[in-house]
Amino acid sequence: MYSSMTCPFITVGGGLAGTAFALELVRNGADVLVLESSAVPKHKVCGEFLSAEVQTLLDYLGLDLKPLGATSAGTFRLVAGNRKAEVPLPFRGAGLSRFCLDHSLLQAAEAAGAEVKRGVTVSSIEPTSSGLLVKAGRHVLRATAGALATGKHNLRPFQRRRGEMVGFKLLLRLRPEASRALEDVVQIAMFDGGYIGASIIEEGLASLCWVMRPALLRRIGASWPSQATYFSSQSEILGDLLTGARPEWDKPIAIAGIPYGYLRRQPIASSIFPLGDQLAVIPSFTGDGMAIALFSGIAAAQAILAGDSAIAFQQRMLKRLKRQFRLASAANLLFESKMMHGLSVMTAALLPGAVAWIAKSTRIGDFEDVMLSRVSGRRVLKV
Ligand SMILES: Cc1cc2nc3c(=O)[nH]c(=O)nc-3n(C[C@H](O)[C@H](O)[C@H](O)COP(=O)(O)OP(=O)(O)OC[C@H]3O[C@@H](n4cnc5c(N)ncnc54)[C@H](O)[C@@H]3O)c2cc1C
Repeated sequence: MYSSMTCPFITVGGGLAGTAFALELVRNGADVLVLESSAVPKHKVCGEFLSAEVQTLLDYLGLDLKPLGATSAGTFRLVAGNRKAEVPLPFRGAGLSRFCLDHSLLQAAEAAGAEVKRGVTVSSIEPTSSGLLVKAGRHVLRATAGALATGKHNLRPFQRRRGEMVGFKLLLRLRPEASRALEDVVQIAMFDGGYIGASIIEEGLASLCWVMRPALLRRIGASWPSQATYFSSQSEILGDLLTGARPEWDKPIAIAGIPYGYLRRQPIASSIFPLGDQLAVIPSFTGDGMAIALFSGIAAAQAILAGDSAIAFQQRMLKRLKRQFRLASAANLLFESKMMHGLSVMTAALLPGAVAWIAKSTRIGDFEDVMLSRVSGRRVLKV
């Protein structure tokens, strides 16, 4: 059906980055095709914590989180063993499943006029003299410019380095007392070999997302019962959370080799815009990957509308992200060794301002330009 099709703009990947790119282009009058490999909406390995920046960017894109059932959180709880510290977040966070968020955003792009093809897995993307060429099975598509927005999945020939950590995610129905203990809270618990985030999302479900070292995974195994037993052995607070909890699925979803700290420094081509996790993977403990995904998508669309090349866009993005990545990587060192865990909780309890500073400094900020452009009617985002 697509054989030798030509379209102005294309995004390979219809996650947050690719969809933000498509939505921004289409609502500015451009034609865009979204190719998404999953045939139906699916759950993703993600903490599902929406920072203030993510909320601002989604609002800019016209997505209202309230009717989707997003929850709200104003407190950050840090747990190590049986100790905990609670500090107010410097903003109100939100909780919403990626299942719902990604699907709703993609629907919004389609409603705005983007052509969305689900169940299409792109096998390669290559630059040409007039733009780019995308191959998906027997189909070949040509476009003037496009986005590489495949998230964690590498696409030939633009591989990223492989990281060490393994990520998991599971939705659970907690018992009422445990659920109440998570009300208005985003909780991160450090354990020997990784950390686990927990928050309440739509329909009162708890979203649990954790990363661990492969050596620990080999030792305790990948099944949920064995992992839950390990978490409970590490902390009574985690034990309380998990007692009587009913998982929504048989086993957690997982992703291996997360390349934390990765920045794509090598430009691809003037017509191919690397977005989201294909551009930069900030450590999830501190940074907000969803904001980078959305922001890079919107900014790439703006660059195209302004007649800019992907190479210039990529350079500006890297410059913008450099400080944030440096700080996020440094902050993550605090949580790498078991020795530092207790100290981190103590510091958070004694110096809540430090937590607020870390939370702010490791986020992609400064959206005044977006808000101003809405007021003035111009949709121009400075990168
Ligand atoms: C453990 C963990 C926890 C996290 N927690 C948070 C958090 O709480 N808050 C936060 O802000 N960020 C968090 N992040 C980061 C965030 O999840 C990512 O940065 C974000 O999802 C990146 O969006 P994306 O659009 O680049 O990629 P994705 O969301 O992965 O989307 C890529 C899309 O491309 C599609 N695709 C892949 N290959 C192909 C192909 N060949 N052809 C067609 N389509 C393809 C996929 O199906 C997918 O839909 C976390 C990350 C991890 C690993």
